[in-house]
Amino acid sequence: MFVVMRPHATPAEIGEVIAHARALGYETREVVQGERVAVGLWGGPDGQPSGRLASLPGVVNLVRVSSPHPLASRAIDSGTTRIEVVPGVVIGGSDVVVMAGPCAVENEDQLLAAARGVRAAGATILRGGAFKPRTSPYSFQGLGEAGLAMLEAARRETGLAIVTEAVDVASFDAVEAVADIVQIGARNMQHYPLLRRAGRSSRPILLKRGLSATLKELLLAAEYILAEGNMKVILCERGVRSFENYTRNMLDLAAIPSLHELSHLPVVADPSHGTGRRSLVGPMARAALAAGSDGLLVEVHPEPGMALSDGPQSMDLEAFRRLMEELPTAAESAGRAMAAPTTPVT
Ligand code: PEP
Ligand code: MN
Repeated sequence: MFVVMRPHATPAEIGEVIAHARALGYETREVVQGERVAVGLWGGPDGQPSGRLASLPGVVNLVRVSSPHPLASRAIDSGTTRIEVVPGVVIGGSDVVVMAGPCAVENEDQLLAAARGVRAAGATILRGGAFKPRTSPYSFQGLGEAGLAMLEAARRETGLAIVTEAVDVASFDAVEAVADIVQIGARNMQHYPLLRRAGRSSRPILLKRGLSATLKELLLAAEYILAEGNMKVILCERGVRSFENYTRNMLDLAAIPSLHELSHLPVVADPSHGTGRRSLVGPMARAALAAGSDGLLVEVHPEPGMALSDGPQSMDLEAFRRLMEELPTAAESAGRAMAAPTTPVT
């Protein structure tokens, strides 16, 4: 249940609602969406709470929510939540945001070459894993903290915001200190302590769909983060397991408009993991934008043949540059524009 407050409700009005609800036995969570505040109530007595709650000053109405993931659901907002990553870079607004870069940070030269190249092509956010969740324990596991320092240096040099993955609670602090967006990967979508830690972060969280997760399971994972108070969650469709093995995963294009129907959270697509083949990344990137994706996550490597992870699905810089030229038309087909680069493109 949500107690919806009038726009610009005063702290005293909100405080009175919270005190009254707690006296009735509810747990409460203040949900701030722009200038509007709602107070979520959990765990209290079944049935209607006291009529007095609805008549407290500043209260517009009480909304009963039957959704298993109320904070992720449309009950909160009929629009898309705008998440300002850094000043001027918004995911979930009118413009589509492209996050691009290598699967893994490998060394300074590789990362800087990728960062300069994707920025010149018009990307606004640099991706790159310092902590890598690899299927095999014998595969490159990432550079860890040294990789984070390289990401920081790349941001200083290019002005690009950074998205990078946290694989566990122990390394979350270090990742959060550097990342403008913290990624939670597909393998960790149901790592509940990690989700709760992400919920206590002030950073936006890019939550990737699990390998075989339903949309409901994805939204329940998002709910873990939201319920801890972090409303800045970006959902990511990155393909799911299927019987087909020509592609690495099956990019579920219908998930994009479905998630928009079910949730106010912004949705981005990852056509790189969603196909596993660089030749398919462009068509699926365009399709994802046409389906209403709020952004893209694309793996780009200066020398894909030398990549320590995910080379076969990584585009080189020239292919990425050509893709970026094709994307405005796809974005326009969904009534969107491409986000302008935050820094002058050289
Ligand atoms: C990645 O983004 O490099 C990654 C590991 O993705 P996923 O968690 O979707 O497999
Ligand atoms: Mn990867």
